[in-house]
Amino acid sequence: MSLAAEVRTQYEVVIGLEVHVQLLTQSKIFCGCSTRFGDPANTHTCPVCLGLPGALPALNREAVTMAMKAALALNCGINPRSRFARKNYFYPDLPKGYQISQYDEPLAEDGWLEIELNGAPKQIGVTRVHLEEDAGKSLHEGFPDSDRASYIDLNRSGVPLIEIVTEPDLRSPEEAYEFLTRLKTMMLYLEVSDCNMEEGSLRCDANISVRRAGVSEFGTKTEVKNLNSFRFLQRALAYEAERQIKVLEGGGEITQETRLWDSREQRTHGMRSKEFAHDYRYFPEPDLLPLTITEEWKEEARRSMPELPAARKQRFMREYALTDYDADQLTHSKALASYYEEVVKQGPDPKLAANWILSELMHLLNDAKKDITESTVTPRNLAELLTLIAQGKTSGKMGKEILAEMFASSRRAEEVMAEKGLRQIDDVEMIAAAAREVIAANPRQVEQYRNGKTATFGWFVGQVMKATRGQANPQRVQEVLKKELA
Ligand code: ADP
Ligand code: ZN
Ligand code: MG
Repeated sequence: MSLAAEVRTQYEVVIGLEVHVQLLTQSKIFCGCSTRFGDPANTHTCPVCLGLPGALPALNREAVTMAMKAALALNCGINPRSRFARKNYFYPDLPKGYQISQYDEPLAEDGWLEIELNGAPKQIGVTRVHLEEDAGKSLHEGFPDSDRASYIDLNRSGVPLIEIVTEPDLRSPEEAYEFLTRLKTMMLYLEVSDCNMEEGSLRCDANISVRRAGVSEFGTKTEVKNLNSFRFLQRALAYEAERQIKVLEGGGEITQETRLWDSREQRTHGMRSKEFAHDYRYFPEPDLLPLTITEEWKEEARRSMPELPAARKQRFMREYALTDYDADQLTHSKALASYYEEVVKQGPDPKLAANWILSELMHLLNDAKKDITESTVTPRNLAELLTLIAQGKTSGKMGKEILAEMFASSRRAEEVMAEKGLRQIDDVEMIAAAAREVIAANPRQVEQYRNGKTATFGWFVGQVMKATRGQANPQRVQEVLKKELA
């Protein structure tokens, strides 16, 4: 199955994404029903979202404001006038027989989002951002040879979505993964969506084609659906690129079609070809007025936007003197960035705080499969530990042990330090006493040292550290030994 590397490098991969993001409004886009997830089926429905004849939609203003925030963050131009359109198709979970979407006059167009891969920034074009309603959900129960039942839950029918379509600017599955990660970060910063993929709040279809290096026209694309995680998406695209290259290398042609990713078999299957593609018979939605966005409304959306990831990263570099890498890692998640700032607010050195969060704390969180929001070490408690280290009351090495215990038991740094005897010995007299004992017990090494074999100095430091069970302040040990050995 695997393709020779030299064949693969003769081809360029081209990818464009279509991402659906569910907006976090309280009520649905065209009626007052709740958008809450997880309640009993069909408990949040009314004539509008059930698609009953004669029911009239009324646009939710908050959904438009949220969509504008997303579009502005993606550097799109907001169209002063846009229009809703009916997208007609039959599906059991779509009682009206059409979905209200936007077609040739979308809310926003022509934006970009910057990604960064291996330190190289790149702008990915955003073709459009438009508003639409979600469909309901079909639920299937049972197995092929037993009783089967299907149900329709219309709680999701009419929940607001934005669709974000990118230009075919992505050049590898890794870039696609990176784009989605940045996009999700952005939506979470804006608080317009919870981007929960398991609950379907973020869904992505990927279009992919390949072309021989140097060829200027794009190849025929396929569309891959059923991508339930960013990792699946990356894998599906890698598979699909390889499949297409093989077809072309074998003298075949790519058929434009929709393919489904099968995560169990780790491959894509053809689902429907272009000949069977839907003709949605779009036409302007007669029950809604064209959407007019005034300058004031746009400004209102702009003013309600928080500091975005790129700006926060720059501020972290400026205010806390962090490296590009550290600032990027910390601001990649809004929750992590906020945690960091909570720690720094308590006074410890910002660089030290960044190091401890990105290495030690992250390790503990990853091992426990926890998110920063679930950290048992509060920002205040981490700051307390960092202060103890900075004051020399405990060492960096013992600090790691203390942190692990704080993480396991949610206790405070002082308490763990005292109980576990992880206090650093800083007292010069105590250290000097230990040093004198070591010196007295090792006359041969002392003589060597005094005769100029200064390399043994490190050995003495090690002996004193051992004698104090690793608790002596190494800096202090060096100072004391220099004096005692002189
Ligand atoms: P369609 O007419 O099939 O809907 P569009 O031109 O509207 O196609 O593009 C849909 C998505 O497919 C966009 O994200 C776009 O970037 C992407 N796309 C278009 N052409 C290609 C191609 N040749 N290879 C990969 N992606 C493509
Ligand atoms: Zn309703
Ligand atoms: Mg299209």
